[in-house]
Amino acid sequence: MNTYLKSYLLQNSQILNNDVLKVDTFLTQQLDLTFLQKVAEEIYQHFKDKKITKILTVETSGIAPAVLVGLLFNVPVVIAKKNKRVTASEQQYTAEIFSFTHQKTYTIEIGANLLTEDDYVLFIDDFLANGQAALGMIEIANQANCQIAGIGIVIEKTFQKGHKLLEERGIDLFSAIPIEHLSAAGIQFKGDC
Ligand code: 5GP
Repeated sequence: MNTYLKSYLLQNSQILNNDVLKVDTFLTQQLDLTFLQKVAEEIYQHFKDKKITKILTVETSGIAPAVLVGLLFNVPVVIAKKNKRVTASEQQYTAEIFSFTHQKTYTIEIGANLLTEDDYVLFIDDFLANGQAALGMIEIANQANCQIAGIGIVIEKTFQKGHKLLEERGIDLFSAIPIEHLSAAGIQFKGDC
């Protein structure tokens, strides 16, 4: 894994407990665009030979990395909305997602006019934990009959359920920063001894 990203995370993230990493100074509340550009470049390098037609993400924290990846592929970025909108007049594709951080279930939706069966989509998100957001996006892609090129993640916690769930489905998964273990003692990255 990229050594800049590794040392950046060690310096800027805060371990809340054995499951949760606080990243609000560069990923969720304030955005470090230099860091995010490097992440986007890593994701682009992994998927660049695929003929991606759209980037998909879920609001809110997936949007920034999705936009930067979208610029590299020069394709539109489609954002799944979490709250029902009065402006959502057209048909919607929807999925139920259980939020790891908020510990509640919510519905995400994407206007059916935004995805077609010719689309080859790349899903981008800030974290992969238990894989619920990713499964929701797969569900929506299935409703739209479009194909999934893969999933690109900024930070993956490989010790939680998401990795296995996506692997079982044969999804091409790439995480710029894969974390194997979190504890008060520190962060262990995948591939570290
Ligand atoms: P999943 O659906 O894979 O269980 O969780 C994905 C979502 O939960 C991410 O989009 C992210 O918003 C949130 N999340 C999961 N783990 C963490 C974490 O350790 N820290 C923060 N800040 N958010 C997380």
